[in-house]
Amino acid sequence: MNNILTKSVWRMRNKDDFKAGQEVNAALIPTGGTSYQLYVPSGGCHNACIFCNYGFNHPVRREKILKRVEHICKFLPRNVETLILESSGSFLDDREFSEDLQYQIMGIVARTNVYRVQIETHYKTVTYEKVKKILEILSGHVVAFEFGLESANDATLSIYNKDIDVGKLYQVVLNCNNLGIETSLNVMVGAPLLTIKEQVQDTLDTVKHILRGCPENTAIVLFPLNIKDYTLVKHLYNQGRYSAISHWEFIEVLEKIPRNVLDRIYISWWGNRYNEFHGKKAIIHPKSCEKCHNQLMDFYSKFVNAKSVEEKQKLVEKISMVSCECRDDYEKEKESQKIDKDIWQRLAEEEKKLIDEFDL
Ligand code: SF4
Ligand SMILES: [Zn+2]
Repeated sequence: MNNILTKSVWRMRNKDDFKAGQEVNAALIPTGGTSYQLYVPSGGCHNACIFCNYGFNHPVRREKILKRVEHICKFLPRNVETLILESSGSFLDDREFSEDLQYQIMGIVARTNVYRVQIETHYKTVTYEKVKKILEILSGHVVAFEFGLESANDATLSIYNKDIDVGKLYQVVLNCNNLGIETSLNVMVGAPLLTIKEQVQDTLDTVKHILRGCPENTAIVLFPLNIKDYTLVKHLYNQGRYSAISHWEFIEVLEKIPRNVLDRIYISWWGNRYNEFHGKKAIIHPKSCEKCHNQLMDFYSKFVNAKSVEEKQKLVEKISMVSCECRDDYEKEKESQKIDKDIWQRLAEEEKKLIDEFDL
């Protein structure tokens, strides 16, 4: 991880811990379509990705959590197909809460009739022993793992301060696949310090990289970067060095992905999610104008619910035809951006500013 970015993130977290690291209980959060997230508070991620606000330490009250999870699972909405197990970091990280509590929660979930149980976790937390135990507890359900990749490009990963080795992550994906576990990889759109064209290209290159390097049933989940409170990205935004991406950029990515692989593409956090524990205003979504906003939201929700590649193709073709002033503005901004420094130089300059701003 980058030393300066990591220190800056922890300076922010330590400053805001009293606001963001409150005691919260387990909760059920709709994430779009038939997917719901079962959030369980934890000791917080020890990594320091610049876009993420999961690093806060929430007290883990075992009995309270188990009681709440029991209640949630008893009254699940009828349409739940996928239940995503999520903590304030990685669900399988024993640092965040004990292995025993992880299995007890899975045991409660195992008694529901949800089709798929998806576990969001860092690939480094997955071991063969854990996988065997999980498959045993959740037998009768489809088991899936969701991993953060964000980008397959080294420079972009450094900007995100993402602590992963892409080759090792793909090996874990392959091992899971061989054991009958479904996998999905999260990919971000909108890295700071990149121009719009570079951001789009970075995502397209990453999609191509996954298609080449992972089993063919690995799902790819695209996220436009949301600017969340208590993140370094929010600091960059406050300093005028980052702004929310346009919805039209996200649409451009979807348009440029080869149509025949759209069945493997899913989307998340397109403007339908809030920071449940940090207040509704603690997040800045991708931007568009009021005239096209409803059309975009309609597109996203239909895309999420689409059942076939043909349906997704038609939806993408339809939204591509929409014209709007804010789309023209997006195109103009994209064409006007010119930076003559390479990405590593830009990162080095950013580090100097952060040293100054955070007094490192
Ligand atoms: S993105 Fe994942 S690894 Fe990075 S800080 Fe957030 S929870 Fe941790
Ligand atoms: Zn518009």
